[in-house]
Amino acid sequence: MSDVRDVIIIGSGPAGYTAGLYTSRAMLNPLLFAGFSSGGQLMLTSDVENFPGYPDGIGGPEMMMELRSQAARFGCKIVDKNVDSVDLSERPFKVNVGSEIYFAKSLIITTGAEAIWLNAENEEIHKGRGISTCATCDGAFFRDKEVIVIGGGDSAMEEANFLTRFCSKVTIVHRREGLRSSQIMEDRAKENPKIQWKLNYQVKSWLGSDGNFEGATLVNTKTNEEENFSCDGAFIAIGHKPITSFLDGQVETDEHGYLLWKENSMTSVSGVFAGGDVVDTRYRQAITAAGMGCMAAIDAERWLEDNVH
Ligand SMILES: Cc1cc2nc3c(=O)[nH]c(=O)nc-3n(C[C@H](O)[C@H](O)[C@H](O)COP(=O)(O)OP(=O)(O)OC[C@H]3O[C@@H](n4cnc5c(N)ncnc54)[C@H](O)[C@@H]3O)c2cc1C
Repeated sequence: MSDVRDVIIIGSGPAGYTAGLYTSRAMLNPLLFAGFSSGGQLMLTSDVENFPGYPDGIGGPEMMMELRSQAARFGCKIVDKNVDSVDLSERPFKVNVGSEIYFAKSLIITTGAEAIWLNAENEEIHKGRGISTCATCDGAFFRDKEVIVIGGGDSAMEEANFLTRFCSKVTIVHRREGLRSSQIMEDRAKENPKIQWKLNYQVKSWLGSDGNFEGATLVNTKTNEEENFSCDGAFIAIGHKPITSFLDGQVETDEHGYLLWKENSMTSVSGVFAGGDVVDTRYRQAITAAGMGCMAAIDAERWLEDNVH
């Protein structure tokens, strides 16, 4: 069998590139598949102000280029192709990329997650410029502004409460009367004087031209009446979807599809490691993803030492 790699990394966000950096410095000669949207979620954002080491902040795409060249500097081979599927039933593992098959003794999966967007009219032009899916990341840009939060679950309540630290008013828009959140989160939001409610409403379209967000047209889900609601920003909090379908159920996940860590950062399949948003239901930050990429790399290195070399 030709060219069996010690490690193949799948995904090129902060977790993947950090895993590439560590495994290449550990002389494991890693191969990293970056995927079609090379650089991951931060390619969609203009300013990253909370990654340590950049006191003046840095553009998302610029930061990802730096992480990429840091990994490449130590020999991580980066290929801008998508992995279509993997076969974990035999060793070495098979990684299928188009018509090519690659072999690896261990895998590090860092394929991230996608925020679920509403896909309302005009959403594309306001993504990252008025509409966000991450209050921790973007809340500080809305100091003394009025925003809406869309969603009725725990993350919507959490995002809304968090945003009241900066915003003068936060309105929760939810398409039903009843919320899906836990009672404690609902109570906390209801007791917060800066939070207003628009229950039985959903967003039909976003208002404003490119770079100039002005609010939303809301529809009453009971009466179908429409109204224009002015605000400075919107946070969509209706969930995230981890990218794991290419694994075809070969690695254990939770009920939402997030990969589960079984032993340190190793998944249910011995020799398959994971890190970043594809396992993370809680933090979802660049720095935590990078940290988990480091953990997966060190765990893979030790596992190879104990089990293969
Ligand atoms: C608009 C926006 C702004 C944000 N701002 C901040 C911020 O300011 N600060 C902060 O800390 N966090 C921020 N975040 C969150 C942060 O981007 C994520 O937590 C982080 O990117 C997760 O990193 P990751 O490496 O796990 O995965 P991702 O960044 O999601 O990268 C996953 C990678 O996997 C690749 N991939 C997927 N499937 C395949 C496949 N089959 N084959 C090959 N490759 C594949 C994709 O191409 C992608 O490159 C923001 C997120 C968004 C959406």
